Amino acid sequence: MSITTLALTAELPELGELLTWSQLEAWAVAMREELPAAALAAALEDLQDRLIDQVCGPKWLPVRDLPAPFGCPGCGVMSDFARKGKRTRPRRFDTAAGIVRIQLANVGCRACGRVFAPLLLLLDLSGKRRTDRLMLELAELAAQMSFARAGAVAASFGVPASAGRAHSAVADLAPMLEGIGQPHAPGAPTGADVVILDGTGMRAGPRRLGVNGNIALGLTGRSGPRRRRRAATVLLGLTLAQPWSAMAEQLRALRPPVVVVVDGELAITKLAEDVWPDVPIQRCWWHLPRALRWALYADKAPSPWANAKRTELVDLLHRVARERLTHAQALAAYDTFAATISTEGHHAAGELLAGARDQVFTCLRPDVRARLAHLGGPELGSGVLERVMRELNARTDIGGSRWSVDGLRDLITVQLARMTHHPAWTTLNQSLRPPNAINFKIAVAKFNAS
Ligand SMILES: [Zn+2]
Repeated sequence: MSITTLALTAELPELGELLTWSQLEAWAVAMREELPAAALAAALEDLQDRLIDQVCGPKWLPVRDLPAPFGCPGCGVMSDFARKGKRTRPRRFDTAAGIVRIQLANVGCRACGRVFAPLLLLLDLSGKRRTDRLMLELAELAAQMSFARAGAVAASFGVPASAGRAHSAVADLAPMLEGIGQPHAPGAPTGADVVILDGTGMRAGPRRLGVNGNIALGLTGRSGPRRRRRAATVLLGLTLAQPWSAMAEQLRALRPPVVVVVDGELAITKLAEDVWPDVPIQRCWWHLPRALRWALYADKAPSPWANAKRTELVDLLHRVARERLTHAQALAAYDTFAATISTEGHHAAGELLAGARDQVFTCLRPDVRARLAHLGGPELGSGVLERVMRELNARTDIGGSRWSVDGLRDLITVQLARMTHHPAWTTLNQSLRPPNAINFKIAVAKFNAS
């Protein structure tokens, strides 16, 4: 343990001499941008000086054969290094605390003649111009707002950032999130009691209609106070610009769920039936009212009436959950509602409701209900799905920009990893953002101290 002390001096004007509060605050904000990086640079140079003394002996009195806490990158020996002076140009690192510039000290290996900077070696910074934590923080911002905005927000807090840097942070981070969409990877989730399959269209690639982003989410638990329960979700599968069948391999590696939730699209239902022939299928309660609205639009139903019907269906599903209706009671209510649509002669909407009937209340079947009791009510993650899809679409739709397929995959990977607290994301966060364990204090010299 050693102590590093920094001194800060500032030329403050006198109070009353045109000194405004805004000027003082501006000074403090300017320090926020420079101080952390300056402190880090000074501490690094201190540590480096002490290391060189320890390994090479005092400056004017070199000592041979001293042991070192590092090995020569040329030959691997761990002793007998000679001072080789400091590099003239400071080395710049972009860090989450700002831009750090340090004068690196070199040593030479007496065994093989290799000259290198031990500080880089010991801190695992060789070849790095930007720290991984800065990458993580930029990528996390860029998962929530446009690259330009992410760059600007980070820059306003003194972090070296720009739209381009935010963009490359996402591209660099995505491949590090191992195990996303790869259930065989160590630490990857192995399944969930409820698996939700959903797809969304995204503006990427050269085709006018864009590409499909297909996602498999798992619901593993619920926690929190009764009225504000939050579902714990895991990301189980992800494909982009591929048909649903491409996800089969990812799903087959998982243990079969108690129930699989689908949005009604034929390809998704087929995939679920192929992969898990014995798992009951539940229609998504979030999608069904939306699909009903579209069907009524196709049927040219009057818009206010169609909107009212959509709301009625939403209310019906909520009531089923709230009043804990049985499977038979729920179906009876559903049939009464469906009759109000078919008597108006709305063909598409009638077909939709009839087609969904067998799967709308799967979660109320006594066997399924018992096995899912620990997850709370029968909403089955429709709220989760809604939140995830909203966030994905909100981010990918910004400014009507068109993505490259690779760029979009990187962004979605980071977004979903973050939203679902994927193990790969959590591990990366724990290693790059540990709690600070280095004590520091700010000593204030008292003016007129007695
Ligand atoms: Zn060597």
